[in-house]
Amino acid sequence: MRHEVSELGTVLGVWAHPDDEVYLSAGLMALARDAGRRVVCVTATLGERGTGDPAQWPPARLAAVRAHEQRASLAVLGVTEHHVLGLPDGDCAEHPADDAVARLVAIIEQVRPDTILTFGPDGFTGHADHQAVSRWATAARALAAPEARLLYATTTDDFLHRWQHVYDRLDVFLADGLPARTPPELLSLHLALDGELADRKLVALRAQATQTAALVAMLGEQTMRDWCATEAFVDAAHATGRAWATWRPAVPADYAAWDHQC
Ligand SMILES: [Zn+2]
Repeated sequence: MRHEVSELGTVLGVWAHPDDEVYLSAGLMALARDAGRRVVCVTATLGERGTGDPAQWPPARLAAVRAHEQRASLAVLGVTEHHVLGLPDGDCAEHPADDAVARLVAIIEQVRPDTILTFGPDGFTGHADHQAVSRWATAARALAAPEARLLYATTTDDFLHRWQHVYDRLDVFLADGLPARTPPELLSLHLALDGELADRKLVALRAQATQTAALVAMLGEQTMRDWCATEAFVDAAHATGRAWATWRPAVPADYAAWDHQC
């Protein structure tokens, strides 16, 4: 596992909200940093609308707190290079793609990553911001670093089956068929975090308490740790086929009030 991650070279993660990177790639980032690799994280928004209680957490306040939380979370993983694009949370799909792609191209030209991580076109949870970021990162990589590996976050049928009892308690996936599943034999990276690494991811998750505290309280720390201890990525070129064709874009009617979890 450590060797596989070390071979990724310089890693650039491109995500939508603070916490996406920790849920989907904390173990990968920690292993890469431990191996002496450069890891750079890009977050499109400050996640300023990620609350079910906007009266208590107006956007400016939540944005400031989430920025602190994310810095602390990334520090646990050894990641010190972080770019925030400052795009509007919940409205990425309406933001001009040319602008977002150009900003990612500039970062890619500066970082020169060997591997780019992002969501698949499904957006994992189906969040429209995630889907927009996937499109932008895919386009920016094609323009600025076509030789770099492009890895999409994914999961497997076995994983979703194993954790169905957790998903039954969460309203996280926005449509049937999400997230897109990948057959295990097609996965490029399939990390099973244990011991210190799983504990470290739990600490990084807890650091983003505005997003995770309620979930940890509901599930319990051990379940949260074990549920989050699997990370899976597929090369973009392999993110095809029937398993990837079952999801549908979805935006719930009460989108503004929806508190994304991943
Ligand atoms: Zn998100």
